[in-house]
Amino acid sequence: MGNTMISKSARADLPSPEPRRSDPATLAAEIIERLTYSIGKDAKVAQPHDWMTATILVIRDRVIDHWMESTRKTYESGGKRVYYLSLEFLIGRLTRDAVSNLGMLEEVREALESLGVDFDVVAALEPDAALGNGGLGRLAACFMESMATVDIPAYGYGIRYVHGLFRQQMSDGWQVELPETWLSHGNPWEFQRSESAYEIGFGGSVDILDTETDSDETQRCAWKPQERVIAVAYDTPVVGWRANRVNTLRLWTAQPIDPILLDAFNAGDHIGALRESNKAEALARVLYPADGTPAGQELRLRQEYFFSSASLQDILRRHLQQYGDLLSLPDKVAIQLNDTHPAVSVAELMRLLIDVHGMEFDPAWDITRETFSYTNHTLLPEALESWPVPLFERLLPRHMQLVYAINAKVLVHARKERGYDDEQARSVSLIDEGGERRVRMGNLAFVGSHSINGVSALHTDLMKQTVFSDLHGLYPDRINNKTNGITPRRWLMQCNPGLFSLIREVIGDEFMDDAEALKALEPFAGDAEFRARFAAVKRDNKVRLANLVARRMGIKIDPSAMFDIQIKRIHEYKRQLLNIIEAIALYDQIRSHPERDWTPRVKIFAGKAAPSYHNAKLIIKLANDVARVINHDPAVRGLLKIVFIPNYNVSLAEVIVPAADLSEQISTAGMEASGTGNMKFALNGALTIGTLDGANVEIQQCVGEDNIVIFGMTAAEVAECRATGHNPRAIIEASRELSQALTAISSGVFSPDDRDRFTELTDGLYEHDWFMVTADFDAYAEAQRRVDSLWLDEEAWYGRTILNTARVGWFSSDRTIRQYAKEIWKAGP
Ligand SMILES: *Cc1c(COP(=O)(O)O)cnc(C)c1O
Repeated sequence: MGNTMISKSARADLPSPEPRRSDPATLAAEIIERLTYSIGKDAKVAQPHDWMTATILVIRDRVIDHWMESTRKTYESGGKRVYYLSLEFLIGRLTRDAVSNLGMLEEVREALESLGVDFDVVAALEPDAALGNGGLGRLAACFMESMATVDIPAYGYGIRYVHGLFRQQMSDGWQVELPETWLSHGNPWEFQRSESAYEIGFGGSVDILDTETDSDETQRCAWKPQERVIAVAYDTPVVGWRANRVNTLRLWTAQPIDPILLDAFNAGDHIGALRESNKAEALARVLYPADGTPAGQELRLRQEYFFSSASLQDILRRHLQQYGDLLSLPDKVAIQLNDTHPAVSVAELMRLLIDVHGMEFDPAWDITRETFSYTNHTLLPEALESWPVPLFERLLPRHMQLVYAINAKVLVHARKERGYDDEQARSVSLIDEGGERRVRMGNLAFVGSHSINGVSALHTDLMKQTVFSDLHGLYPDRINNKTNGITPRRWLMQCNPGLFSLIREVIGDEFMDDAEALKALEPFAGDAEFRARFAAVKRDNKVRLANLVARRMGIKIDPSAMFDIQIKRIHEYKRQLLNIIEAIALYDQIRSHPERDWTPRVKIFAGKAAPSYHNAKLIIKLANDVARVINHDPAVRGLLKIVFIPNYNVSLAEVIVPAADLSEQISTAGMEASGTGNMKFALNGALTIGTLDGANVEIQQCVGEDNIVIFGMTAAEVAECRATGHNPRAIIEASRELSQALTAISSGVFSPDDRDRFTELTDGLYEHDWFMVTADFDAYAEAQRRVDSLWLDEEAWYGRTILNTARVGWFSSDRTIRQYAKEIWKAGP
């Protein structure tokens, strides 16, 4: 391996290039040079995409200077490295983030301007890296940026999906999924590392190595996989704020061992000759588009094992290269499992330590637990991953043995030392014995980690009380809370430049390095002149969004109306349905009481539904059907408009969030683990209407009860109501507005072409209403009228929104990451 052309001692003398200068003239000259020599285009005929690529290559050179310095620093300091394993990274565009964090925004803008090119136009050409579904993947992206910012040597590990999350198109109001092709113009941000390649096996059989002892899954074995593929790394640099540090996001792609079976090809079987190749490449082809539904497919388990094994082999290789032995692993390595998707890593590390590196079971188990920590993201039972034992055993026979061996240890401990009874033992077991036997990935991640964290205070409490109550009883010091955060660079400085400069002008620069310094803005909530300027920025952002809506959808919306926004994945627990039904009730009221002083509102929705999630897709159709009727009814007199903006993604969120007056965070209490959309809106000066769910609880504590509109049942009330059974039909009948709205839906007012289209949705509400839409309806409608009355007093409204911005700096992901580093990873400066 390595470079045998040049001896090591000679290599030490090789010069490093001078760090690049970043004045506009140098940048402009280099952009032309790249256009010519890297892309092979004459500037006179260059296409917009060529300018984008050339610009990125020039910026990338500056990133590389910092990247190499960071790598050197980590190596020399011998500091602990953090590895963030996540099957999703919802990054969005990288370029503005990188330029801004390098502090080169003005210089790059000027350089391009001197060439007659607009930076904003070039930046908008970059496709979103949409390697995630929603909040969980976006959190991983915010964490990557914050780990670089707070100077933690970290690697993100994931899969380089060829097709990220599907593109959502609307066809007559229905969601249609189209493939997303972010790599079609190449990806100038990434580096292929052909030398970082590992073999990954599947299937086959297991041989016992030490024949003199009894056969026992705790001893060394040799796994003989039947299939093998190669994992190859692609690295993307992630720049922290002020380029403090540049970390690496390492994404794996799969390649076949034999790219083509030449014998078969020559025998005329042209398709068969490529079968192996196609099978390998299928591994990294698509992101699993389900969001909180069971991933019941073999390909998904293969993806999970593929990226876990590649990442662990890479981690062990790096550690051994630097430190020479694996006993020191937990001192130098912390591995964070983002949800259960990488949980098979627990068994894989055990296998590598025992079978490949010759360690005994017990010390291997100690090292494993000291190295791993696990973040739980959901309590929804259908989202807690488990795999049928026969599938797991067929694909990963050695891991199955190890799971049994680990389970035996856990169960003996539970029964002998803690006196657990049968029921408690069943609940902590790694194997679900009810019905078809399944491997429980949440329990595997829990027992294989020294830390299990929830993502908001409420979620962590509920975790202790519900899914993991018996495991918590067994290991009471493991569960801890780390409330989520968002990076203020992307979600304030970059997406809302108007607000950013206004804040900077009045409170100075400190908040740029410490979001909690936004507190200094508090006194300005009482300053009429500042309020007017804050309102003017909001208005500009609303005009920008109105232009986007006009351009993309041909719908005119009025920037002086209240922009009432719910953007997030479409899911029944997030209750877009509650919002739509309330809009229908409002529509009825506006028509019945034209004399009242209604607040003009624009209700904006955006979000994708999992392709197989029938009800969620029906909710999208309902939003569109209701929008068509309301937007065309002259009796509404423009007081209410509804728009569903297609293809929600990070870049769209960056335009919508700064334009929000009202942020809808209305999930059924107890069901949203944290939410991060709620934080983005509050930071950008929107008022929240929400339930006491997830991080809303902590947002309320930070901004104060007067500056947020809370309504509805608490998590405890929801649990109680579900346990004792409630009667949604009676609730509906007792509420005139609700029953009228539901009757309108079920009688076909919004679907004259198919009157029964929504009966499944309305029947569900009458019959069980699991998500408490009916039970919370009156409280929600009442809260919306409270919002209307707050809106009437414009001065007070902006005072409240300013206090939101001033008081939510705590929700910076820098704070979250510092807590992880100090309390879980024991890493960092
Ligand atoms: C922030 C974000 C999310 C998460 O939103 P929630 O409201 O917390 O569910 C999902 N998707 C995108 C594109 C985001 O930017």
